[in-house]
Amino acid sequence: MTYQPTIGLEIHVELKTATKMFCGCLNEPDEKKPNFNVCPVCLGHPGTLPTINKKAVEAVLKLGLALNGNPSTGGSKFDRKNYFYPDLPKGYQISQYDKPLISGGELKGIKIRRVHLEEDTARLLHGGVSAGTEQSSSFADFNRAGVPLMELVTEPDIKNGKEAVAFARELQLILRYLGISDADMEKGHMRIEANLSLSADRVLGTKVEVKNLNSFRAAEEAIDYEIKRQTGVLEKREKVVQETRGWNENKKITVSQRIKEEAHDYRYFPEPDLPVLNLGEFRLEEIKAEIPELPEQIRTRFSKEYGLSPEQAEILVVDRRLAEYFEESASELFSEISEDENKFKNIQLLFNYLASDLKGLLNEKCLDIGDLKISPENFSDLVVLIIKGELSSRLAKDILREMAESGLDPRRIIAEKNLSQISDEKIIEQAVAEVIAQNNKAVEDYRNGKESAAQFLVGQSMKKSGGRADPRKIREILNRLLSS
Ligand code: ADP
Ligand code: MG
Ligand code: ZN
Repeated sequence: MTYQPTIGLEIHVELKTATKMFCGCLNEPDEKKPNFNVCPVCLGHPGTLPTINKKAVEAVLKLGLALNGNPSTGGSKFDRKNYFYPDLPKGYQISQYDKPLISGGELKGIKIRRVHLEEDTARLLHGGVSAGTEQSSSFADFNRAGVPLMELVTEPDIKNGKEAVAFARELQLILRYLGISDADMEKGHMRIEANLSLSADRVLGTKVEVKNLNSFRAAEEAIDYEIKRQTGVLEKREKVVQETRGWNENKKITVSQRIKEEAHDYRYFPEPDLPVLNLGEFRLEEIKAEIPELPEQIRTRFSKEYGLSPEQAEILVVDRRLAEYFEESASELFSEISEDENKFKNIQLLFNYLASDLKGLLNEKCLDIGDLKISPENFSDLVVLIIKGELSSRLAKDILREMAESGLDPRRIIAEKNLSQISDEKIIEQAVAEVIAQNNKAVEDYRNGKESAAQFLVGQSMKKSGGRADPRKIREILNRLLSS
């Protein structure tokens, strides 16, 4: 018997709004000082009233529209989800039950069931010892309580851990492009839960929910582990229990946490303190117009317009500002050099300097592309100098460094440091002649048509001229001197 895995994801995302979901407190869940951004509303004091953060609603609408989902037409409402836990002093979480902001949509071939808005809980710190006692205690930090939390639920369209992670990564990228969340898994801005069952002969099996997936790697490993575990259970002709399991990162296994609660356990009912939202009043057209070009469109365009391979395009697309930097320098390049048959070759050169040298510099100095002093125009100028043979690639690396330090354009640095390429034929000719005189064996090989010997002689001549001669000119002179 073969078992078919069926996987659906629930992904929670903290939205990057200025203030919290239902009060005016600053939305800074990473604030180190405990209970700093709090007020009676997000502390759950009785008698306080929530108000809806419009920016959070707009953020969810923007994501929903970007994924081709449908904003609720019959009014979208908030509901109380009742349960007890010390991180939830109201005894309920304001969430959305049957009228989510967004229904439907799709990403990477996986259908989206819904996207809704709720509030994050406080953060609990277990195991500290409080003053004056021997007892171990728990602490509650309410900085995170009431932070706008978006929940996206997929249809069970996913088949394995790899597909699940590809979906989650693409969602993360889109959230960043839309500017609605930093979606940093490590910081808990984005949290993944996986629902997984195995079916045999098209009969759906019992669903298990897996939590504690704190990284993409954990998500992939946990899902693949759970597929194996459930297969083992079914092969022993036992039943899979419907439950919530947690991923144990150290042991690389899932462990049972609790028997899964049903929706009726939460006794959802409409939040009486908040109005039903009429999304027609939410300037949907404007929000749609604010959606930038998304990663998938950029990948296609970079391949078509610049001839980049999928791997090359990906290096740029994962960092929106790097992709923008690339495009700005590419358009500068085209304004300097006509778009002839060498177009893709020149772009490859630009890409290589960007992906290796420039990125290398950024890594070395722990800088963001946004902090870089080199403007796309100056960067493109450097590449143009190389293309025109006015600068050797060795010198280009040094000059790039100087550019990062001073923010000056490459021509100015070349002029100031007297680094310009020696184009004076006489001087190069002298260097080449010396190299010929000193390397009889290589000269002989060269005459016999050995390309490696030619490269060796060019390299030696380059060295003699301090790396400042145009290699093409050297080759020309070498040919001329040895053709007689
Ligand atoms: P719950 O009410 O238990 O949270 P939902 O029906 O809301 O369950 O679904 C939650 C997630 O579980 C969704 O991502 C959905 O696609 C997925 N899911 C539903 N049924 C199955 C199933 N039989 N196997 C795997 N995943 C499922
Ligand atoms: Mg659920
Ligand atoms: Zn507050």
